[in-house]
Amino acid sequence: MRSARKPLSTYRRVVIKIGSALLVDRARGLKTTWLDAICADIAALKSQGVDVLVVSSGAIALGRSVLKLPAGALKLEESQAAAAVGQISLARAWSESLSRDAIIAGQVLLTLGDTEERRRYLNARATMTQLLKMGAIPIINENDTVATSEIRYGDNDRLAARVATMIGADLLVLLSDIDGLYTAPPHLDPEAKFIEIIPSITPEIEAMAGGAASELSRGGMRTKIDAGKMATSAGCAMIIASGKVDHPLAALAEGARSSWFAPSTTPVTARKTWIAGQLLPSGTLAIDAGAETALRSGKSLLPAGVRDVTGTFSRGDTIAIVSADGREIARGLASYDADETRQIAGRKSGDISEILGYAGRAAMVHRDDLVMTGTLPDAQATTRATCETERNDIDA
Ligand code: GLU
Repeated sequence: MRSARKPLSTYRRVVIKIGSALLVDRARGLKTTWLDAICADIAALKSQGVDVLVVSSGAIALGRSVLKLPAGALKLEESQAAAAVGQISLARAWSESLSRDAIIAGQVLLTLGDTEERRRYLNARATMTQLLKMGAIPIINENDTVATSEIRYGDNDRLAARVATMIGADLLVLLSDIDGLYTAPPHLDPEAKFIEIIPSITPEIEAMAGGAASELSRGGMRTKIDAGKMATSAGCAMIIASGKVDHPLAALAEGARSSWFAPSTTPVTARKTWIAGQLLPSGTLAIDAGAETALRSGKSLLPAGVRDVTGTFSRGDTIAIVSADGREIARGLASYDADETRQIAGRKSGDISEILGYAGRAAMVHRDDLVMTGTLPDAQATTRATCETERNDIDA
C-alpha cells in the first residue's frame, strides 16, 4: 500500500523546505547552531545516496535583522531591500555550513515566471538537475528582491512543492514551527487531534487547514495543504514536521511526530503536472454538464460545450475550466486566443472555419493538453491565499 511510511533514506530525491522562524531569530539573527545541525543531517542523507534540494526561507527575516528594521509589516520596497541584504548572508551561511561536510552549495533564486513559463521552467529545471549531477546541493529561494506583489509566490511552501514536481522529487519535507496537521488549528481548539497519515487531500482535510498565515512567516497550514495537493498529485509524498529541534531530519528518522501525505497512485505526466500546477491561469472557460462528462471520460473540450469565456489569453496559455456551478475541474492549454474562443464558444466544431476564416483545431482544449484538477487548488483560492498572505506581510 502506497500510504505506508518509509525511511527518508529510501527516497531517491528529497526537497526540504525550511521556514524563516527556524533559521532566524529576530534579536540575534541567524541561528548558526541549528543551521550546522541540519547541514549535518543533510550530509548524512546525501551520503546514503539521496539527492537533496533545499528551499530556504529567511532572506527577508535575516535582512531586517541585519538592517535593524523595527518590528511591524514592511512595505513592498522595504521587504525587497531586506531580501537583498538577507539573501547574501543566508546563501553564505548555507555555503559555509555545508562546506564543513565537504558539500558544495549552489544558490538558485526563482521568480514566478521561472516556473510558470514553460521555456523558463525547463531552463530552471536543467540548472537544478545539473547541480545535482555535479554533487552540489541547490539552495533555493524566491527572488524576493525583484518579486512584486502581483507576481510572486509569497510563500515558500508552494514554491517548494513546485520545485519538487519540477525536478521529479519523490518526497517533500516542510519543516516549520508546527509538527503536522491537526483536525483544527491547535492554538485555537484544545480538542484538536493530530493526524499522522493523510491518504488523500479531501475537502475535509482542506477544511482543517483553516485560514492563511498562522505562523511568523508567510505560509500557514493553508499554503502547506496547497503544497500537498501539488506534490501528491505529481506522485511526490509530503511530510509536515517540526523543525524546532536541532537535527530535525535525524529526529524524523527516529520517529518524531509528523504528518505524512501519501503520493497519488496515478501521477500525471511531467507535462500535465506543469499545466496543473500553474498558479495563475490566464483565463477561464465555463462549460456545461455534457462537456464535463466528456472531460471526465478523457475526451477533449469542444467549443459546443463552452458557455462562458473570461480573461485575456493567447493560444498555448493555460486556462482553467470550471463547471456550471463554478467549481474548477480541469486546466489546459488554449487552442485559440481569447477573442477567437469567444467567437466559437457554443458553436459546432464544423463551423469553426466559417466563423474564423481558417480551419483551426476541432478542440478548444485538446485532451493531450488537458489535466483534471479536481484535487488541485482552484485558481481563485490560490489567488485569495496569495492576497491574504500578502496582507500578513512577513513580520519574522
Ligand atoms: N522567500 C521568503 C524569504 O526568504 C520567505 C517566504 C516564506 O516565509 O514562506 O524571506
